[in-house]
Amino acid sequence: MSAQNEGTMSTSTTGSAGSSGYVARPLVEGFPGKSSSHGAFGWSSLWLLDDGVRRVLIDAGQPAYIPLIHAGLERYGLTTDDVTDVLLTHMHWDHVSNFPMFANATTWVGERELRWAAEQPSGTPFLPDLHVQELLRRTDRVGRMTAGQEVLPGIHAIDSAGHTPHHLAFYLDRTDEKRVFAGDAVKNLYELASGRVDSTLDLDASAATIVAMRSLLTDTGASLVPGHDVELRWEDGEVHRRHAPRAAIGFFADASTGEEDRSIG
Ligand SMILES: [Zn+2]
Repeated sequence: MSAQNEGTMSTSTTGSAGSSGYVARPLVEGFPGKSSSHGAFGWSSLWLLDDGVRRVLIDAGQPAYIPLIHAGLERYGLTTDDVTDVLLTHMHWDHVSNFPMFANATTWVGERELRWAAEQPSGTPFLPDLHVQELLRRTDRVGRMTAGQEVLPGIHAIDSAGHTPHHLAFYLDRTDEKRVFAGDAVKNLYELASGRVDSTLDLDASAATIVAMRSLLTDTGASLVPGHDVELRWEDGEVHRRHAPRAAIGFFADASTGEEDRSIG
């Protein structure tokens, strides 16, 4: 699928007939944070696509997201049982961890990405060993997908290698507003604007993937949802956030004053 890294991504539209399409909404918005002391934040994007029949999650988030996922679904009158599909961009802990909480859902994982993750030694950064093993073990409610596949009607898996060797992005065309869910192929505004990435297993592949993503955005007019930022627009070679990212950290600062929550940053 290397041709898709040359700016020629395939975007067939076979799933467009007979439906009003998906409404896409964030359950948890990504944040482009960087910790210098305690490892990765893992504040990743977790979006819900709903066409009235299917309720599809793009990525499953990290364990700290569990209450946010319940609250986010509740906002739309849904529970975890209503989720029909979970599509995983790649096998990193902050995108994979919560797939078991959706009892009725099929979890879709990249065939080659899963095989690669299973071959890595325990202790490889960001790979959740037990989740990888569980996805391999399950014969029910786990689907294997490949780049170029229309995984669900109107949701196309796109090769977006670099960050991990077989990373997949998803292009959504059965909707009133086209979107690319880039996962960590494009983690934030900076990466789409500069073409340079902060964390990748293959710098050249990541750079080629971002060039291809830009072409796709130009050709289709789609928005892009990064792995760790709010939704972006690519217009005339410039990148804009649709709204400002928000985040806060508090900590238990001082016993003598009774101060329990001091914000930093
Ligand atoms: Zn990642």
